Amino acid sequence: MAGIFIFSEDPQLAQQLLTPGLALKASLGQPLVALTASSADAQTLASLGADRVVMLKAARTTPEALAPAIADLLAKEQASVVLVGGTLRGRHLAAHVAAALKAGMTTDAKVLAIRDGKLEAQRILYAGLAVCEEVVALPAVATIPQRTFLAPAAAAQAGTVETLEVQADARVVVESTTPVESEGVDITAAIKLVSVGRGFGKKEDLFLARDLAGALKAEISCTRGVAEDEHWLPIERYIGISGQTVKPELYLAVGLSGQVQHMVGCRESKVIVAVNKDEQAPIFEAADYGIVGDLYQVLPLLTAALKS
Ligand SMILES: Cc1cc2nc3c(=O)[nH]c(=O)nc-3n(C[C@H](O)[C@H](O)[C@H](O)COP(=O)(O)OP(=O)(O)OC[C@H]3O[C@@H](n4cnc5c(N)ncnc54)[C@H](O)[C@@H]3O)c2cc1C
Repeated sequence: MAGIFIFSEDPQLAQQLLTPGLALKASLGQPLVALTASSADAQTLASLGADRVVMLKAARTTPEALAPAIADLLAKEQASVVLVGGTLRGRHLAAHVAAALKAGMTTDAKVLAIRDGKLEAQRILYAGLAVCEEVVALPAVATIPQRTFLAPAAAAQAGTVETLEVQADARVVVESTTPVESEGVDITAAIKLVSVGRGFGKKEDLFLARDLAGALKAEISCTRGVAEDEHWLPIERYIGISGQTVKPELYLAVGLSGQVQHMVGCRESKVIVAVNKDEQAPIFEAADYGIVGDLYQVLPLLTAALKS
């Protein structure tokens, strides 16, 4: 029986995929089925609106090893739409599945809808300067980036969970893993960010931003120039097209110009506040609130006001 299927190896992203999945279910009138390799995730997905959760049991459960088994299952179940979490591994899996199903595929979808029996997807192009619309005949595969959707609220009735033994691809074996060295701060999860640009004259002056962040209980992020050129902050803290994408409640941009390559990573922040001495700086076009002034004067005043 046809259905809408979701899969992500990332538990949060898998939950977020249920939201567009439920909308597609309403349009197509087909059940929403979640695939997972984790029993803990299976119960959650069933409680958040999946009609059925298929728990895949295999000797190896990396997305790469599961890809052929998932493709076989989707073919057998006549999947009409497959939503895959757009992680590195998810994109790999999506491409494998699309090829096996001879299905069209769209990537980085931000908006999804069914129109005239086809999947219509929108994604951002050219660092946010354009929106691309793609129409894919069913069956269709789409990858969806992190935090594009919020996870749905608990469903009135939980779906069913079934376990399916599948064959892992014997060619995919993880020999060893090396953890990525980082400071352990995930700025993509921050509720508030103070983001610094090259308007700070030198690394030592960043204490002004740290003081403000402390008063706000915010994390520090930055532009690419600050991380990659100046090496004032680690690269996992820079925002933009080639850096992190964030969606905080507050994005306080200090001494950064707001070039499009940066803004594409923070444009979905709820409130953007800018401090810049140049009133023509592009950041003011994106900002909800702006202070035109020298950060060396403005930041101590803001911090003092917040502390009092
Ligand atoms: C292919 C490509 C990809 C890129 N990807 C990214 C990306 O992912 N992320 C990213 O951030 N950038 C990226 N960039 C770079 C981007 O185009 C900008 O160059 C960069 O974001 C600018 O960094 P900035 O705002 O820190 O510096 P600047 O553009 O130099 O801006 C500094 C700002 O500080 C203000 N200022 C100076 N002194 C003060 C003061 N005392 N008080 C207040 N304000 C002051 C100035 O008015 C100015 O607006 C990319 C570029 C390319 C070509």
